[in-house]
Amino acid sequence: MDDFLQQCRAVIGSQYVLIDEADRKPYETEWRQRYRGHCLAVLRPASTTEVADLVKLCRQFKISIVPQGGNSGLVIGSVPDSSGNSVVLSLRRLNKIRAIDTDNNTITVDAGCILNDVQQSADNSQRLFPLSLASEGTCTVGGNLSSNAGGTAVLRYGNARELCLGLEVVNAQGEIWDGLKGLRKDNTGYDLRDLFIGAEGSLGIITAAVMKLYPKPKAIQTALVALSSPEAALELLNLSREGFGPALTGFEFISAICLELVHKHFPDIPLPFSEAYSYYVLLEISDHESESHARQLAENVLGQALEGAIISNAVIADSMTQANNLWKLRENISMAQAAEGKNIKHDISLPSSCIPAFMMMTAQLLESHFPGCRLICFGHMGDGNLHYNISPPIGVNDQNFISNQEAINRLVHDQVHAYNGSISAEHGIGSLKRKELLRYKSAVELQMMRAIKSALDPDNIMNPGKIL
Ligand SMILES: Cc1cc2nc3c(=O)[nH]c(=O)nc-3n(C[C@H](O)[C@H](O)[C@H](O)COP(=O)(O)OP(=O)(O)OC[C@H]3O[C@@H](n4cnc5c(N)ncnc54)[C@H](O)[C@@H]3O)c2cc1C
Repeated sequence: MDDFLQQCRAVIGSQYVLIDEADRKPYETEWRQRYRGHCLAVLRPASTTEVADLVKLCRQFKISIVPQGGNSGLVIGSVPDSSGNSVVLSLRRLNKIRAIDTDNNTITVDAGCILNDVQQSADNSQRLFPLSLASEGTCTVGGNLSSNAGGTAVLRYGNARELCLGLEVVNAQGEIWDGLKGLRKDNTGYDLRDLFIGAEGSLGIITAAVMKLYPKPKAIQTALVALSSPEAALELLNLSREGFGPALTGFEFISAICLELVHKHFPDIPLPFSEAYSYYVLLEISDHESESHARQLAENVLGQALEGAIISNAVIADSMTQANNLWKLRENISMAQAAEGKNIKHDISLPSSCIPAFMMMTAQLLESHFPGCRLICFGHMGDGNLHYNISPPIGVNDQNFISNQEAINRLVHDQVHAYNGSISAEHGIGSLKRKELLRYKSAVELQMMRAIKSALDPDNIMNPGKIL
């Protein structure tokens, strides 16, 4: 191994080959600190050619590679296993904005650019880069693409896959594929770009990307709406799609317990209603005319919903501060839940038409098998994505309750499968959901996935043990 490390140092410089325990630790530990792996070294290249040279060395010495961006993934995909036989290849030093083309509405960025920095660069050029996640100060574009990240604006702009036009990739042989085209139409055979997006580093290393930009909206209007049932939320979704058209940017579902937890653990965030309701929806619209047009639109549609008794109450934000406070209620749900104790998480998606039935049936089943368990359900309902987390009954020790994880996963995921949904809407598979993938994908699907993996990475050096 000394020979391998020596050659890595020759490629990227000694200071970028990290072998000390303390230096490696943050790269070996996953975001929620539930797992720490062990690697031979952390390699920190600064360019595509350095990445390519390192991959060639890894191949030669039969060392597997765990690509890593911001290490904010939630499925244990960006950290090594415990064998100590792999290297973490951190993309964070590839962090340049390569070009902005405002006429083509595209931005070309290195894979290690932090999402926040890409949003800022677009904004400086009077454009919008709409991908938006709570981890945007940490996650990288390469990681967003490799996990096909979603976030709060998928309803209007699509997920990371839909925002990407071209890629530059170092394949498992250490060759560079330059697919950095800013084309919206390109029907020239198999779409290699789409293979690498969502592959979680298991097929190659994304080193740069061309991403779509949009005109900046003139006004953003935010509202929090109270309603009595998931059925009413679905009705409101349909009304909003019709009434707001493409202006509808966000439609976040929040159950009452989520706001109770946020209020308990973040009492400084103001609650907009004096009374409690069973469910809420946080709505956002982006308007290309004016503030007053956006306000009028929101008042019209929500007025119609009130008249039709679809909703029970609504607050339309009067200021940026109020809008930010409404979003803080949504964004702090995960933190409030973590402060409350351990819980069993699911990141699922369903056809939106099935959400009310799924929620009713699954809640009944959970209550009959795990009486008193608390359902912390919230998420991007506009694109069918729910975070469906189960907390222990009040007074039950969370550590004891977590021992039910496998049984609860089975119950929830079987229900998701029965409704033709997905067991991973936006976080990916990593090593956390590998067993679940094997259970719910058909034999034909798994066989095609394995064929792609072995064709592109015959030596199995790209993030082995993840996804498949
Ligand atoms: C507070 C919080 C909120 C979040 N909210 C959302 C959300 O709303 N929506 C959502 O989708 N996700 C969310 N996530 C999950 C996470 O932020 C996303 O998955 C993000 O896209 C990961 O980016 P990253 O740079 O941190 O990737 P990493 O965690 O470093 O890596 C993720 C996966 O991609 C691979 N990878 C990373 N970079 C590359 C590359 N350049 N080439 C090839 N493979 C690579 C890794 O090996 C790993 O398998 C959230 C996470 C946190 C902590």
